[in-house]
Amino acid sequence: MQIHKPRSQPPQDDGVLAGAGASTAPFHWLQAGLLVACVVTLASLFGVWTRLAGQLAVFWPANALLLGVLLRFPRLDTASGWIGGAAGYMVGGWIAGDGLAALVLLTLGNFLSVVTGYLLLARLGPDDRRLAKPASVLMLVWVIFLSAGASGLGGTLIGPLVFNSPAIESGMAWFVSEVVNYIAILPAVLTIPVRRLARPVPRQWRAGHGRHLRRALPLASLAVSLGLALVVGGPGAIAFPVPALLWCGMAYGLFGTSVLTLLTTTWMLLAISKGQLDMSVQVDTPQMLMSVRLGVTLIALSPIAVASAMATHTALTRRLRHMAEHDPLTGTMNRRAFSDHAGQALRQARIARAPAGLLILDIDHFKSVNDSYGHAAGDLVIVHIANCLRRHLPEGPPLLGRLGGEEFAVLLPYCTRQQTLEIAERMRQACAETAVDIGDGRLVTATASIGACVALPAIEQLDQMLQCADGALYQAKHDGRNRVILAEWVASVER
Ligand code: GH3
Ligand code: MG
Ligand code: MG
Repeated sequence: MQIHKPRSQPPQDDGVLAGAGASTAPFHWLQAGLLVACVVTLASLFGVWTRLAGQLAVFWPANALLLGVLLRFPRLDTASGWIGGAAGYMVGGWIAGDGLAALVLLTLGNFLSVVTGYLLLARLGPDDRRLAKPASVLMLVWVIFLSAGASGLGGTLIGPLVFNSPAIESGMAWFVSEVVNYIAILPAVLTIPVRRLARPVPRQWRAGHGRHLRRALPLASLAVSLGLALVVGGPGAIAFPVPALLWCGMAYGLFGTSVLTLLTTTWMLLAISKGQLDMSVQVDTPQMLMSVRLGVTLIALSPIAVASAMATHTALTRRLRHMAEHDPLTGTMNRRAFSDHAGQALRQARIARAPAGLLILDIDHFKSVNDSYGHAAGDLVIVHIANCLRRHLPEGPPLLGRLGGEEFAVLLPYCTRQQTLEIAERMRQACAETAVDIGDGRLVTATASIGACVALPAIEQLDQMLQCADGALYQAKHDGRNRVILAEWVASVER
């Protein structure tokens, strides 16, 4: 018999495209190649669309996207993925009308930048690549400047051959353009969440409605600030969305903020280049253009840094809360957390004038398990019993707690007398019918006695429900163990 991991442990990274840990669904090499080729082709075509006559594309997302997806989804990081990337550049350029020599040279230039970024980012730890540490954003900026440097080198060599442009000017333009693209796109791609979402806890509509409105405020303020930038204009307009983006950084997490920053940056660059955002300064020389592009993009770094720091803080708080509320052996709630959550659930059931059931389970003759097989084996039995209970919990927020030792409590809000009895009986049977492999080939079976209490309707006082169930448990032990005894709470406890 296998010991199952407690359900409250964090889920594994299980996205379809995620890394080595997610090896279940086979991802064919052809699919990887085609997917990457599609992404790069579409990104190249978008880049071409932002090209102004005789100039580099205002926005060239293909390199940053290729680098980001290969690192974020290791299943695409295969030979076919890289070949797909190269094909994507070629197809994009071919549709845009580039000749063969230009196609090859430009693809080489793009690869120079992507490969440099790949080699540097691959050296960072996974947490840094997901910007999950306070210093991660700074490290990413270093990598971006070095990769853009490689791109600048490519521009110096390839620009004169393909565009007949002076080497230094071409190198500078490629460098700046790459900094802008990487800063705008990489954070969003590297932080794409691939974890399965936890089962949603049902919420009352009114509470959820107000929460959604509050959640939308930072986004609304971003839209207002962009509108203001359009209306007011001038050189300062590029900084108008910064406060709203900082607010988004505190509210929406790393991925959400990175995506909003990417959209804002892209919109600003396009609005400036198409003349919709009037900066009241001439943005017609290459230097001015570079300055504006860099300014817009570098401003976007601060909200991402804020979101990264917030993500670290939130993850730490979540971990500490989990440790404070859960029993480390079984992963169930500890006594205090169970009291808090069960008390709240009882109050809600009381308001709805619904019934509620409560079970207390105690393993039978557990001292002799410890004595015969040792304390470690006893621990395995406790974990096994917790898993049996967990498997038979009804839908909804799990209200299972370890009261101490080998004693557990289960709250069953909204359960009738009959339902409470059925669930308790199923739990008892599950415990009695399965054996625990204690690791040396020996199997241990343990039974449990359950005291159940139902209140019709629910009462608010958890203590009184616990007392009532404890009385029933005493009776179950007295009557011979491995059984369920139900007590009904009326005005005074009657059994
Ligand atoms: P009964 O059927 O009457 O419940 O008999 P019992 O032997 O199970 O008696 P009781 O419930 O009082 O036994 C509790 C025992 O559980 C005593 C203690 O040594 C053991 N115990 C408490 N916490 C742990 C633990 O975390 N791990 C292990 N292995 N044993 C524990
Ligand atoms: Mg006990
Ligand atoms: Mg016991």
